[in-house]
Amino acid sequence: MGTETPPAASGPLVTIERVHAAREIAAEAGIDLLVLTPGSDLRYLSGYHAHAMERLTALAVPRQGEPFLVVPRLEAPMVDAGPAGSLGLELLAWDETDDPFALLAETATARLGSAPTRVAVGARSWAEHALGVQRALPGSALEIASPVVDRLRMVKSPAEIEELALAGAAIDRVHARMAEWLRVGRTEAEVGADIAAAIIEEGHTGVDFTIVGSGPNGASPHHELSGRTVQAGDLVVVDIGGETATGYRSDCTRTYVVGGSPAADVAEWYAVLQAAQEASTASVRPGVTAEDVDAAARRVIDDAGWGEHFIHRTGHGIGLDTHEAPYIVAGNELPLEPGMAFSVEPGIYLAGRCGARIEDIVVCTDDGVRNLNGGPRELVELPG
Ligand code: ZN
Ligand code: ZN
Repeated sequence: MGTETPPAASGPLVTIERVHAAREIAAEAGIDLLVLTPGSDLRYLSGYHAHAMERLTALAVPRQGEPFLVVPRLEAPMVDAGPAGSLGLELLAWDETDDPFALLAETATARLGSAPTRVAVGARSWAEHALGVQRALPGSALEIASPVVDRLRMVKSPAEIEELALAGAAIDRVHARMAEWLRVGRTEAEVGADIAAAIIEEGHTGVDFTIVGSGPNGASPHHELSGRTVQAGDLVVVDIGGETATGYRSDCTRTYVVGGSPAADVAEWYAVLQAAQEASTASVRPGVTAEDVDAAARRVIDDAGWGEHFIHRTGHGIGLDTHEAPYIVAGNELPLEPGMAFSVEPGIYLAGRCGARIEDIVVCTDDGVRNLNGGPRELVELPG
Protein backbone atom coordinates (compact mmCIF):
# COMPACT_ATOMS: atom_id res chain seq x y z
CA MET A 1 0.00 0.00 0.00
CA GLY A 2 1.22 3.45 -0.87
CA THR A 3 4.57 2.12 -2.03
CA GLU A 4 6.91 4.93 -3.02
CA THR A 5 8.40 4.39 -6.44
CA PRO A 6 12.18 4.78 -6.35
CA PRO A 7 13.52 7.02 -9.11
CA ALA A 8 15.02 5.11 -12.04
CA ALA A 9 17.98 6.30 -14.11
CA SER A 10 15.86 6.06 -17.25
CA GLY A 11 13.17 8.45 -15.99
CA PRO A 12 10.14 8.31 -13.71
CA LEU A 13 8.11 5.10 -13.66
CA VAL A 14 4.73 6.84 -13.48
CA THR A 15 3.82 10.12 -15.17
CA ILE A 16 0.63 12.19 -15.37
CA GLU A 17 0.90 11.90 -19.16
CA ARG A 18 -0.29 8.31 -18.85
CA VAL A 19 -3.65 9.36 -17.43
CA HIS A 20 -3.99 12.00 -20.11
CA ALA A 21 -3.12 9.45 -22.80
CA ALA A 22 -5.77 7.10 -21.39
CA ARG A 23 -8.30 9.94 -21.55
CA GLU A 24 -7.39 10.61 -25.18
CA ILE A 25 -7.66 6.95 -26.21
CA ALA A 26 -10.99 6.61 -24.38
CA ALA A 27 -12.35 9.74 -26.09
CA GLU A 28 -11.30 8.44 -29.51
CA ALA A 29 -13.06 5.16 -28.77
CA GLY A 30 -16.25 7.00 -27.75
CA ILE A 31 -15.96 5.96 -24.10
CA ASP A 32 -17.31 8.61 -21.72
CA LEU A 33 -15.74 7.48 -18.48
CA LEU A 34 -12.99 5.11 -17.32
CA VAL A 35 -13.23 3.76 -13.78
CA LEU A 36 -10.21 1.88 -12.43
CA THR A 37 -10.28 0.27 -9.00
CA PRO A 38 -7.34 -1.19 -7.00
CA GLY A 39 -5.08 -3.37 -9.10
CA SER A 40 -2.44 -3.03 -11.77
CA ASP A 41 -4.41 -0.64 -14.00
CA LEU A 42 -4.73 1.83 -11.12
CA ARG A 43 -1.10 1.39 -10.10
CA TYR A 44 0.04 1.88 -13.70
CA LEU A 45 -1.92 5.09 -14.25
CA SER A 46 -1.62 6.72 -10.83
CA GLY A 47 1.33 5.09 -9.05
CA TYR A 48 -1.09 4.19 -6.27
CA HIS A 49 -0.67 0.58 -5.16
CA ALA A 50 -4.00 0.44 -3.37
CA HIS A 51 -5.20 -2.35 -1.16
CA ALA A 52 -8.39 -3.85 -2.63
CA MET A 53 -11.24 -3.93 -0.15
CA GLU A 54 -14.96 -3.29 0.13
CA ARG A 55 -14.55 0.50 0.52
CA LEU A 56 -14.42 2.15 -2.91
CA THR A 57 -11.12 3.48 -4.19
CA ALA A 58 -11.29 4.45 -7.87
CA LEU A 59 -9.51 6.53 -10.46
CA ALA A 60 -12.17 8.15 -12.64
CA VAL A 61 -11.11 9.47 -16.05
CA PRO A 62 -13.91 11.35 -17.82
CA ARG A 63 -13.58 11.88 -21.58
CA GLN A 64 -13.20 15.57 -20.83
CA GLY A 65 -12.09 17.48 -17.75
CA GLU A 66 -9.62 16.45 -15.12
CA PRO A 67 -9.32 12.88 -13.84
CA PHE A 68 -9.92 12.35 -10.11
CA LEU A 69 -9.35 9.76 -7.43
CA VAL A 70 -12.18 8.73 -5.12
CA VAL A 71 -10.68 7.47 -1.84
CA PRO A 72 -11.91 6.68 1.66
CA ARG A 73 -11.26 9.65 3.96
CA LEU A 74 -9.09 7.56 6.30
CA GLU A 75 -6.69 6.80 3.42
CA ALA A 76 -6.63 10.25 1.82
CA PRO A 77 -3.53 11.56 3.68
CA MET A 78 -1.55 8.46 2.70
CA VAL A 79 -2.63 8.69 -0.94
CA ASP A 80 -1.85 12.41 -1.06
CA ALA A 81 1.64 11.81 0.37
CA GLY A 82 2.35 9.05 -2.19
CA PRO A 83 2.98 8.97 -5.94
CA ALA A 84 -0.64 9.82 -6.83
CA GLY A 85 -0.34 13.02 -4.79
CA SER A 86 2.90 14.02 -6.49
CA LEU A 87 1.28 13.54 -9.89
CA GLY A 88 -1.21 16.22 -8.86
CA LEU A 89 -4.27 13.99 -9.20
CA GLU A 90 -7.34 15.51 -7.60
CA LEU A 91 -8.47 13.59 -4.52
CA LEU A 92 -12.13 13.29 -3.54
CA ALA A 93 -12.33 11.84 -0.04
CA TRP A 94 -15.54 10.23 1.17
CA ASP A 95 -16.70 9.67 4.75
CA GLU A 96 -17.89 6.36 6.12
CA THR A 97 -21.57 7.31 5.77
CA ASP A 98 -21.25 8.83 2.27
CA ASP A 99 -22.17 7.02 -0.93
CA PRO A 100 -18.85 6.94 -2.86
CA PHE A 101 -20.54 5.72 -6.04
CA ALA A 102 -22.86 8.72 -6.04
CA LEU A 103 -19.86 11.01 -5.46
CA LEU A 104 -18.08 9.46 -8.45
CA ALA A 105 -21.18 9.61 -10.67
CA GLU A 106 -22.04 13.22 -9.78
CA THR A 107 -18.47 14.47 -10.27
CA ALA A 108 -18.05 12.70 -13.61
CA THR A 109 -21.46 13.95 -14.82
CA ALA A 110 -20.51 17.52 -13.88
CA ARG A 111 -17.24 17.30 -15.83
CA LEU A 112 -18.92 15.79 -18.87
CA GLY A 113 -21.94 18.13 -18.85
CA SER A 114 -24.29 15.12 -18.97
CA ALA A 115 -24.40 11.63 -17.51
CA PRO A 116 -21.95 9.21 -19.16
CA THR A 117 -23.50 6.45 -21.23
CA ARG A 118 -20.44 4.36 -22.10
CA VAL A 119 -18.50 3.54 -18.93
CA ALA A 120 -15.43 1.28 -19.06
CA VAL A 121 -14.22 -0.50 -15.92
CA GLY A 122 -10.94 -2.31 -15.32
CA ALA A 123 -11.02 -5.96 -16.37
CA ARG A 124 -9.99 -7.15 -12.91
CA SER A 125 -12.29 -4.86 -10.92
CA TRP A 126 -14.35 -6.46 -8.20
CA ALA A 127 -17.96 -7.04 -9.28
CA GLU A 128 -19.32 -5.12 -6.25
CA HIS A 129 -17.43 -2.02 -7.38
CA ALA A 130 -18.30 -2.32 -11.08
CA LEU A 131 -21.96 -2.94 -10.31
CA GLY A 132 -21.97 -0.08 -7.79
CA VAL A 133 -20.82 2.28 -10.55
CA GLN A 134 -23.55 1.01 -12.85
CA ARG A 135 -26.23 1.46 -10.18
CA ALA A 136 -25.11 5.06 -9.68
CA LEU A 137 -25.27 5.70 -13.43
CA PRO A 138 -28.46 3.88 -14.40
CA GLY A 139 -28.39 5.11 -18.01
CA SER A 140 -24.94 3.68 -18.62
CA ALA A 141 -23.70 0.46 -20.16
CA LEU A 142 -20.55 -1.04 -18.69
CA GLU A 143 -17.71 -2.34 -20.78
CA ILE A 144 -14.14 -3.50 -20.16
CA ALA A 145 -11.40 -0.84 -20.11
CA SER A 146 -8.72 -3.20 -21.46
CA PRO A 147 -8.72 -1.87 -25.04
CA VAL A 148 -7.81 1.56 -23.61
CA VAL A 149 -5.47 0.64 -20.77
CA ASP A 150 -3.72 -2.29 -22.47
CA ARG A 151 -2.89 -0.05 -25.41
CA LEU A 152 -0.68 1.91 -22.99
CA ARG A 153 0.47 -0.88 -20.65
CA MET A 154 1.63 -3.09 -23.55
CA VAL A 155 4.36 -0.67 -24.61
CA LYS A 156 6.86 -0.31 -21.80
CA SER A 157 8.80 2.89 -21.15
CA PRO A 158 12.60 2.71 -20.75
CA ALA A 159 12.11 2.94 -16.97
CA GLU A 160 9.70 0.00 -16.99
CA ILE A 161 12.07 -2.07 -19.14
CA GLU A 162 14.84 -1.46 -16.61
CA GLU A 163 12.52 -2.69 -13.84
CA LEU A 164 11.75 -5.83 -15.85
CA ALA A 165 15.48 -6.31 -16.49
CA LEU A 166 16.20 -6.10 -12.74
CA ALA A 167 13.45 -8.65 -12.08
CA GLY A 168 14.89 -10.89 -14.82
CA ALA A 169 18.39 -10.72 -13.33
CA ALA A 170 16.97 -11.54 -9.88
CA ILE A 171 15.19 -14.67 -11.10
CA ASP A 172 18.29 -15.69 -13.08
CA ARG A 173 20.23 -15.66 -9.79
CA VAL A 174 17.68 -18.06 -8.31
CA HIS A 175 18.01 -20.48 -11.24
CA ALA A 176 21.81 -20.28 -10.96
CA ARG A 177 21.53 -21.64 -7.40
CA MET A 178 19.24 -24.59 -8.30
CA ALA A 179 21.86 -27.24 -7.43
CA GLU A 180 21.59 -26.14 -3.78
CA TRP A 181 18.03 -27.43 -3.56
CA LEU A 182 17.03 -29.65 -6.48
CA ARG A 183 18.37 -33.08 -5.53
CA VAL A 184 17.36 -36.73 -5.70
CA GLY A 185 15.32 -37.77 -2.65
CA ARG A 186 13.78 -34.36 -1.92
CA THR A 187 10.11 -33.62 -2.58
CA GLU A 188 8.91 -30.98 -5.01
CA ALA A 189 7.36 -29.18 -2.03
CA GLU A 190 10.70 -29.05 -0.17
CA VAL A 191 12.50 -27.79 -3.27
CA GLY A 192 9.74 -25.26 -3.89
CA ALA A 193 9.95 -23.85 -0.34
CA ASP A 194 13.70 -23.27 -0.76
CA ILE A 195 13.17 -21.64 -4.15
CA ALA A 196 10.49 -19.36 -2.67
CA ALA A 197 12.91 -18.18 0.02
CA ALA A 198 15.58 -17.55 -2.62
CA ILE A 199 13.17 -15.57 -4.80
CA ILE A 200 12.94 -13.09 -1.91
CA GLU A 201 16.66 -13.25 -1.04
CA GLU A 202 17.65 -12.45 -4.62
CA GLY A 203 15.67 -9.22 -4.90
CA HIS A 204 11.90 -9.73 -5.01
CA THR A 205 9.37 -8.57 -2.43
CA GLY A 206 6.87 -11.33 -3.21
CA VAL A 207 6.70 -14.82 -4.68
CA ASP A 208 4.20 -15.20 -7.52
CA PHE A 209 4.55 -18.92 -8.21
CA THR A 210 6.95 -21.85 -7.92
CA ILE A 211 6.39 -24.69 -10.35
CA VAL A 212 8.59 -27.74 -9.77
CA GLY A 213 7.33 -30.44 -12.12
CA SER A 214 9.43 -33.57 -11.66
CA GLY A 215 9.19 -36.64 -13.90
CA PRO A 216 5.57 -37.17 -15.03
CA ASN A 217 4.47 -33.95 -13.27
CA GLY A 218 6.56 -32.01 -15.79
CA ALA A 219 4.04 -32.99 -18.46
CA SER A 220 1.44 -30.76 -16.76
CA PRO A 221 2.47 -27.18 -17.66
CA HIS A 222 0.82 -25.51 -14.66
CA HIS A 223 1.59 -28.20 -12.10
CA GLU A 224 2.84 -26.41 -8.97
CA LEU A 225 4.27 -28.50 -6.16
CA SER A 226 3.50 -31.95 -4.81
CA GLY A 227 4.85 -34.48 -2.34
CA ARG A 228 6.51 -36.42 -5.16
CA THR A 229 10.17 -37.23 -4.47
CA VAL A 230 12.70 -36.40 -7.18
CA GLN A 231 14.14 -39.61 -8.69
CA ALA A 232 17.55 -40.13 -10.30
CA GLY A 233 17.39 -39.27 -13.98
CA ASP A 234 14.18 -37.18 -13.65
CA LEU A 235 13.56 -34.27 -15.95
CA VAL A 236 12.36 -31.37 -13.78
CA VAL A 237 10.57 -28.28 -15.15
CA VAL A 238 11.22 -25.29 -12.87
CA ASP A 239 9.08 -22.25 -13.73
CA ILE A 240 9.35 -19.47 -11.16
CA GLY A 241 8.55 -15.81 -10.78
CA GLY A 242 8.16 -12.99 -8.30
CA GLU A 243 7.23 -9.37 -7.84
CA THR A 244 9.77 -6.61 -7.20
CA ALA A 245 9.30 -3.52 -5.02
CA THR A 246 8.04 -1.48 -7.96
CA GLY A 247 5.51 -4.15 -8.91
CA TYR A 248 7.27 -5.44 -12.01
CA ARG A 249 7.45 -9.22 -12.41
CA SER A 250 9.84 -11.99 -13.31
CA ASP A 251 8.95 -15.30 -14.98
CA CYS A 252 11.57 -17.79 -16.17
CA THR A 253 11.58 -21.51 -16.88
CA ARG A 254 14.55 -23.84 -17.10
CA THR A 255 14.44 -27.62 -17.35
CA TYR A 256 16.87 -29.71 -15.34
CA VAL A 257 17.93 -33.35 -15.32
CA VAL A 258 18.87 -34.54 -11.84
CA GLY A 259 21.30 -37.29 -10.85
CA GLY A 260 21.77 -38.93 -14.23
CA SER A 261 21.83 -38.39 -17.98
CA PRO A 262 18.65 -38.01 -20.00
CA ALA A 263 17.51 -40.84 -22.29
CA ALA A 264 18.68 -40.55 -25.91
CA ASP A 265 15.27 -39.54 -27.23
CA VAL A 266 15.02 -36.75 -24.64
CA ALA A 267 18.18 -35.13 -25.96
CA GLU A 268 16.71 -35.33 -29.45
CA TRP A 269 13.38 -33.61 -28.76
CA TYR A 270 14.90 -31.18 -26.27
CA ALA A 271 17.15 -29.97 -29.10
CA VAL A 272 13.99 -29.35 -31.15
CA LEU A 273 12.49 -27.36 -28.28
CA GLN A 274 15.62 -25.28 -27.89
CA ALA A 275 15.71 -24.56 -31.64
CA ALA A 276 12.04 -23.52 -31.48
CA GLN A 277 12.66 -21.15 -28.59
CA GLU A 278 15.65 -19.62 -30.41
CA ALA A 279 13.71 -19.23 -33.67
CA SER A 280 10.79 -17.59 -31.90
CA THR A 281 13.06 -15.17 -30.02
CA ALA A 282 14.99 -14.34 -33.20
CA SER A 283 11.74 -13.54 -35.02
CA VAL A 284 10.93 -10.64 -32.67
CA ARG A 285 11.17 -7.19 -34.23
CA PRO A 286 8.81 -4.27 -34.89
CA GLY A 287 6.03 -5.02 -37.37
CA VAL A 288 6.11 -8.79 -36.90
CA THR A 289 2.77 -9.89 -35.45
CA ALA A 290 2.26 -11.65 -32.13
CA GLU A 291 0.95 -14.69 -34.00
CA ASP A 292 4.07 -14.72 -36.20
CA VAL A 293 6.20 -15.11 -33.05
CA ASP A 294 4.01 -18.02 -31.96
CA ALA A 295 4.23 -19.56 -35.43
CA ALA A 296 8.03 -19.29 -35.47
CA ALA A 297 8.24 -21.61 -32.45
CA ARG A 298 5.40 -23.90 -33.54
CA ARG A 299 6.79 -24.43 -37.04
CA VAL A 300 10.07 -25.87 -35.71
CA ILE A 301 8.26 -28.24 -33.33
CA ASP A 302 5.65 -29.23 -35.94
CA ASP A 303 8.27 -29.89 -38.61
CA ALA A 304 10.13 -32.23 -36.26
CA GLY A 305 6.92 -34.15 -35.59
CA TRP A 306 6.31 -33.03 -31.99
CA GLY A 307 3.52 -30.52 -32.67
CA GLU A 308 0.80 -32.41 -30.76
CA HIS A 309 2.94 -32.16 -27.61
CA PHE A 310 3.19 -28.33 -27.67
CA ILE A 311 -0.17 -27.68 -26.04
CA HIS A 312 -0.16 -23.97 -25.15
CA ARG A 313 0.45 -20.55 -26.70
CA THR A 314 4.08 -19.39 -27.01
CA GLY A 315 3.88 -16.51 -24.54
CA HIS A 316 2.23 -13.65 -22.70
CA GLY A 317 3.01 -10.03 -21.98
CA ILE A 318 4.48 -9.16 -18.59
CA GLY A 319 4.73 -6.00 -16.52
CA LEU A 320 2.78 -5.16 -13.36
CA ASP A 321 0.93 -8.44 -14.00
CA THR A 322 2.63 -11.72 -14.83
CA HIS A 323 0.08 -12.37 -17.58
CA GLU A 324 -1.05 -9.32 -19.56
CA ALA A 325 -1.26 -8.17 -23.19
CA PRO A 326 0.15 -8.89 -25.70
CA TYR A 327 -0.60 -12.61 -25.86
CA ILE A 328 1.69 -14.51 -28.23
CA VAL A 329 -0.90 -16.79 -29.77
CA ALA A 330 -2.37 -17.76 -33.16
CA GLY A 331 -5.09 -15.30 -34.11
CA ASN A 332 -3.43 -12.28 -32.48
CA GLU A 333 -2.57 -10.09 -35.46
CA LEU A 334 -1.22 -7.27 -33.29
CA PRO A 335 2.02 -5.93 -34.83
CA LEU A 336 4.86 -5.75 -32.32
CA GLU A 337 6.17 -2.32 -31.34
CA PRO A 338 9.40 -1.30 -29.63
CA GLY A 339 8.87 -1.60 -25.88
CA MET A 340 6.53 -4.58 -25.91
CA ALA A 341 7.69 -7.15 -23.34
CA PHE A 342 6.54 -10.77 -23.27
CA SER A 343 7.58 -14.34 -22.64
CA VAL A 344 8.79 -16.80 -25.24
CA GLU A 345 8.10 -20.19 -23.68
CA PRO A 346 7.47 -23.16 -25.93
CA GLY A 347 7.23 -26.57 -24.26
CA ILE A 348 7.02 -30.25 -25.17
CA TYR A 349 4.94 -32.46 -22.88
CA LEU A 350 4.80 -36.26 -22.93
CA ALA A 351 1.79 -37.24 -20.81
CA GLY A 352 2.58 -39.72 -18.06
CA ARG A 353 6.32 -39.42 -18.58
CA CYS A 354 7.91 -35.95 -18.51
CA GLY A 355 8.00 -32.51 -20.06
CA ALA A 356 10.30 -29.60 -20.82
CA ARG A 357 9.86 -25.86 -21.29
CA ILE A 358 12.28 -23.00 -21.93
CA GLU A 359 11.07 -19.52 -21.02
CA ASP A 360 12.70 -16.10 -21.33
CA ILE A 361 11.24 -12.62 -21.07
CA VAL A 362 12.11 -10.57 -24.15
CA VAL A 363 11.54 -6.98 -25.24
CA CYS A 364 10.94 -5.83 -28.80
CA THR A 365 13.54 -3.12 -29.55
CA ASP A 366 13.80 -0.60 -32.39
CA ASP A 367 15.39 -3.18 -34.64
CA GLY A 368 15.12 -6.58 -32.98
CA VAL A 369 14.98 -8.16 -29.58
CA ARG A 370 16.53 -7.83 -26.12
CA ASN A 371 16.52 -10.87 -23.85
CA LEU A 372 15.98 -10.05 -20.17
CA ASN A 373 17.03 -13.52 -18.97
CA GLY A 374 20.40 -15.21 -19.15
CA GLY A 375 21.68 -18.56 -18.06
CA PRO A 376 21.81 -21.79 -20.05
CA ARG A 377 18.80 -22.83 -22.14
CA GLU A 378 20.26 -26.29 -22.58
CA LEU A 379 19.02 -29.11 -20.40
CA VAL A 380 20.91 -28.37 -17.17
CA GLU A 381 22.41 -31.47 -15.57
CA LEU A 382 22.52 -31.34 -11.77
CA PRO A 383 24.60 -33.87 -9.78
CA GLY A 384 21.71 -35.22 -7.71
ZN1 ZN B 1 6.64 -19.12 -16.46
ZN1 ZN C 1 5.25 -17.29 -18.46
